[in-house]
Amino acid sequence: MELEQIKTEALQAEKAALDALAAAKSAAEIERLKPEILGKKGALRQLMRLLGQIDATLRPTAGAIINEAAARVESACETRLQELRERELEARLAAERIDVTLPSPSRRVGLLHPLTLTLREIERIFVSMGYSVATGPEVETEYYNFDALNIPPDHPARDMHDTFFLAPGTILRTHTSPVQIRYMKSHHPPIAIIAPGRVYRVDDIDATHSPVFHQVEGLLVDRDVSFAHLKGTLTEFLHAMFGKDLATRFRPSYFPFTEPSAEVDVQCFACRGKNAECRICKGTGWIEVLGSGMVHPNVLSHVGLDPKEFSGFAFGLGVERFAMLRYGITNIRCFYENDIRFLRQFAQRW
Ligand SMILES: [Zn+2]
Repeated sequence: MELEQIKTEALQAEKAALDALAAAKSAAEIERLKPEILGKKGALRQLMRLLGQIDATLRPTAGAIINEAAARVESACETRLQELRERELEARLAAERIDVTLPSPSRRVGLLHPLTLTLREIERIFVSMGYSVATGPEVETEYYNFDALNIPPDHPARDMHDTFFLAPGTILRTHTSPVQIRYMKSHHPPIAIIAPGRVYRVDDIDATHSPVFHQVEGLLVDRDVSFAHLKGTLTEFLHAMFGKDLATRFRPSYFPFTEPSAEVDVQCFACRGKNAECRICKGTGWIEVLGSGMVHPNVLSHVGLDPKEFSGFAFGLGVERFAMLRYGITNIRCFYENDIRFLRQFAQRW
């Protein structure tokens, strides 16, 4: 074999390798080509094996020719690899680019529940009249829920309360009235509190009933408290709640823990009695909103207050009912289903 032939073949192998590198389209392809071109089975390495066939004095020259060709191929390989990697990185950066000028997705902000809004309004009005907010346990004893409120075990009112019993003598409170008893036992008159909270009654759920609902109970006890105070306080409250120009009406009623007792109506704010078809007052012109009365002497005695020295009035209302009236909601279930479409409507309405 001649030196010239070695030289020609080395140049041919080099050219073939450089062409293959130039044609490669990705860094991964170069990585694949590299062992094929420069490895043991590559054309240049194969050429090395033929060196034995040429004259010994020419071998170093021939070896140098092959090595130089191999070095150029290797260098071209690195250059091409680098080039393709850079191109791929640029493409990836372009594809993953974030357009910071795009408007961001709007974030939803939580809102207060319509029952919370209604309760806060009720609290705001009474607090402005000097009342404090008191709370008590939802798991109650029969004593606080019934006996202390002048509802002895054989009293028919117990049946009306449809009580959830947890254990003998232990119940879920059926009204927030037991808070009155707890408060009067731990505080001395003058007392002016409202007691908001959840109450429980065995009831099937329908458009106006739920086995759990919310009440606000109010209590004022002092010396010389009269029915006129009750009437003035509740009228003031209803005017603040529903409108100053609406009439109120007190109808005789019966509750075991008050005597005398009265149910309180407010003039229909929707029709003022002028629409016989009115859905809110059902054509009567009046809406029943409160139960109230003078604290029964037996209740005062139960907490150690002398009924001859002290007197007081109490009242109770349903928060759901107030919220339904205020917002024109006809189905109580809307409050508990947590449907965001329903709840979002109350954002700016208070
Ligand atoms: Zn009406």
